[in-house]
Amino acid sequence: MSVKPARTRIAPSPTGHMHLGTARVALYDYLLAKKTGGQFILRIEDTDLKRTVPGAEQEIMDGLRWLGLQYDEGPDIGGPHGPYRQTERREIYQAHAKVLVDKGHAYPCFCTPDHLDKVRQEQMKRKENPHYDGTCRVLAPDEAAKRIANGEAYTIRFKMPQDGVTVAHDHLRGDITTDNKQLNDQVILKTDGLPTYHLAAIVDDHEMQITHVMRGSEWLGTFPLHVNIVRAFGWDEPTWVHLSVFLKPSGKGKMSKREAAQAMKDGYSIFIKDMQELGFTPEGVLNWSALMGWGVAEDDVMTVNQMLDRFTIDSLTPSPAAINFQKLDHFNATHIRLLTTEDLATRLKPYFTREGLAVQDDVLLKIIPLIRERLTTLDDCISFGAFFFKDEVTPLPEELIAKGLDAKQSAEIARRAYQILAAQPDISHERCEPPLRAYVEESGLNANQVFGILRVATTGQKVSPPLFESMEIIGRDVCLRRIQNAIDILEKM
Ligand code: GLU
Repeated sequence: MSVKPARTRIAPSPTGHMHLGTARVALYDYLLAKKTGGQFILRIEDTDLKRTVPGAEQEIMDGLRWLGLQYDEGPDIGGPHGPYRQTERREIYQAHAKVLVDKGHAYPCFCTPDHLDKVRQEQMKRKENPHYDGTCRVLAPDEAAKRIANGEAYTIRFKMPQDGVTVAHDHLRGDITTDNKQLNDQVILKTDGLPTYHLAAIVDDHEMQITHVMRGSEWLGTFPLHVNIVRAFGWDEPTWVHLSVFLKPSGKGKMSKREAAQAMKDGYSIFIKDMQELGFTPEGVLNWSALMGWGVAEDDVMTVNQMLDRFTIDSLTPSPAAINFQKLDHFNATHIRLLTTEDLATRLKPYFTREGLAVQDDVLLKIIPLIRERLTTLDDCISFGAFFFKDEVTPLPEELIAKGLDAKQSAEIARRAYQILAAQPDISHERCEPPLRAYVEESGLNANQVFGILRVATTGQKVSPPLFESMEIIGRDVCLRRIQNAIDILEKM
């Protein structure tokens, strides 16, 4: 059976940092478009000028590219249905608002904010849900035209049906029936001539030939309005997919600003840029977010290519998903293990550089097999590998003292180890381990005591990748210098 190519879009408002919710919708959009041989589009919904944040649009484009979700059409790359920034499309919305007015589906409204506020207060006093009272709905068209000609400020409101019901069909949730009495005449064009989301998104989805609208379930409330607008124009509806919401890690309630701040304290974030800085990989983030709302097994490890094999919109689920950062760790660590050595090296380098370390590429390639299994996030490479790129390490004196021994005894062990290593022509693992183990045997010490001192002396830390392999990479001269430094420290104690 041949499938019709889908045209999908991610339509974020540039009002803050790009977050997980946007990434997840973009992923599903991307998968559906690629799977069906269609296109994935980025549209910037920037008509709420008061909320637009400088730099937010760039952050969205950078975020999508970092995730590997390259769009086929968008504000910076153009495309056949542009412009892709809503503030550059205002005439299109104005023309469409006029069509609705002419067809009797919308009307100009001259109510001032003060008047609307008063009406709202009174409704609340009467314990009614605040709604537009319909003052201008009944204005005669020539009266409205006169007031417009007089220069009065006005909005355009959509005229909602007042009788019967609206049945809106969501692909995951089925038919959603709303009594039209509960619906409200919403503003679709503001006094500044810019549209609200309700008009702009509907017009653009039609003009851009979007076949599937995937979006957050926060839009379910105005879903009946949106289908009424589409029908008023006489257009075909796209397939509507309202995705699940994210819950707090506790599973109780929606993810809030407070929860997001707490996550940051714990070394996590729901913002894409932060995730990148915290050392999460696009593969880990995508795998993790894919499964929050997609009914495949919760621990399925998948790259985007593997997701493409399995993705269908029918397998998405509307049930809310609690954010579980431990799972993010799990997926991230798993994907780090799946990267090639060269790829991982390229990704780790900026984290070392960020710490002011001069990275030698050949050394970096050598340490990857030693540290890879220990990394949960990419920036863990600092705790496990910074000492490879430092001129000197600064061990804590007390950590140089082996368990059960004192400083003097520990210094003696360090001196013996120094002699053994200095006697070797090179410091390869094969050459160093046997004589050091022989020394452990004959001295009656235990291996942890001897190797513990050597570890702290050569790496500057108690926990490190395997000792002999690490010493081999550090090199003979540097190792000996570091051990000598440890002897000096111990002798002074
Ligand atoms: N601009 C809307 C938002 O950022 C987009 C919703 C949609 O995808 O239609 O929430």
